[in-house]
Amino acid sequence: MTATLLDETHDPSARSWVESANAADTEFPLQNLPFGVFSRRGSNEPGCIGVAIGTSVLDLPACHAAGLFAGACVAEGGACRDVSLNALMALGPTHWRALRRRLSELLRAGHPDEGRHHAMVGPHLVPMAEVEMRVPAQVGDYTDFYASLDHATNVGRMMRPDNPLLPNYKWVPIGYHGRASSLVISGTPVCRPRGQMRPEGAETPIVGPSRRLDYEVEVGAFVGPGNRLGHPIPLADADRHVFGLCLVNDWSARDVQAWEYQPLGPFLAKNFATSVSPWVVTIDALAPFRVPPVARPEGDPAPLAYLDGEDHQAWGATDIQVEVHLSTARMRAAGTEAARLSRARFRDMYWTIPQLIAHHTMGGCNLRPGDLLASGTVSGPEPSMRGCLLELSWRGQHPVDLPGGERRAFLEDGDEVVLRAWCEREGATRIGFGECRGRVVAEP
Ligand code: CA
Repeated sequence: MTATLLDETHDPSARSWVESANAADTEFPLQNLPFGVFSRRGSNEPGCIGVAIGTSVLDLPACHAAGLFAGACVAEGGACRDVSLNALMALGPTHWRALRRRLSELLRAGHPDEGRHHAMVGPHLVPMAEVEMRVPAQVGDYTDFYASLDHATNVGRMMRPDNPLLPNYKWVPIGYHGRASSLVISGTPVCRPRGQMRPEGAETPIVGPSRRLDYEVEVGAFVGPGNRLGHPIPLADADRHVFGLCLVNDWSARDVQAWEYQPLGPFLAKNFATSVSPWVVTIDALAPFRVPPVARPEGDPAPLAYLDGEDHQAWGATDIQVEVHLSTARMRAAGTEAARLSRARFRDMYWTIPQLIAHHTMGGCNLRPGDLLASGTVSGPEPSMRGCLLELSWRGQHPVDLPGGERRAFLEDGDEVVLRAWCEREGATRIGFGECRGRVVAEP
């Protein structure tokens, strides 16, 4: 694995001539440089690849046209003329790192060529307030995992109080193949789905709008080069196939799910919308925040050989703080700030992203550039770390209190869910993921 390669792009003392990138509370300092796809607000232009820096977006195709990626970075610059990140994702880590180095150099204050860089790059900065973001890749396939032991235990306990975890959980990363067509960008309204469900105690099912609509906070991984059919990705190579991470809201209709999930798992309960955050924080930007996987509880089996390795034990996990905030229509009308519902640590997940990739491909399944793998709900051991309302309200039995006296067992129309995440540690610059926002509406 190469994830712990630190270079001058991570130097915490480096500052940018883009002043907003030096603000103490920015999510997008020079050390982050996440990629996304944008269009100028109100224009009909196709997507354009950009990098977030402070409160601006750097237009990469414009930089390419201006010759700023000539020489060592010409292939990478060319890939940035696409309308999605897929071509860049396909290039692989050597190219990603070269482009990151070049961008860091172009945007750095105190570089010997700062004056020239500023003059040439400055015209290609667009204020973030003037852009609309798109789903960053054409996602061919989307897979959702179930990697939090705490989430799996809590949900299992609701169904089987005496035997919450199924016997496979600690051996095999559990997942299902999701639906790519309904991935939507942060900010897209989410329409309450209709579905078939069987109310508790009823003999026959009914059809109607879901009454138990929920969110799930997850971390998503965009696949880089991927593998050929029949050629698994070994755990030690998994990082080379991750372009970067984003936030994912796996909206879930719990009443539909409860009725349909046996025996083949979720189907319509989760295929009506999945929101993604616009900025992909690259695997290189995350290098300072790699940590050992969480220690398995005493008595748990060690991972099987294909899911274990020395490098993985040293830095297989990533330390990300993940939060969920909720505001209701009434709270917004009253000017009340969104309420925080949970905060959890991504490093507490039982299975890491490299393990998910190694497992996904072990039978020969091919991953392709731009495929999205989501982690599963990020929950932790404390009640304040539960990453969905199903857990927070314990299947609706204990509604969550909100400022202003409202309560929620599940989501109401007008509710807005905002996911946020960031990485921080001593000796590194704090970097953020931006947000993943979605408001529930009754009609499309
Ligand atoms: Ca999920």
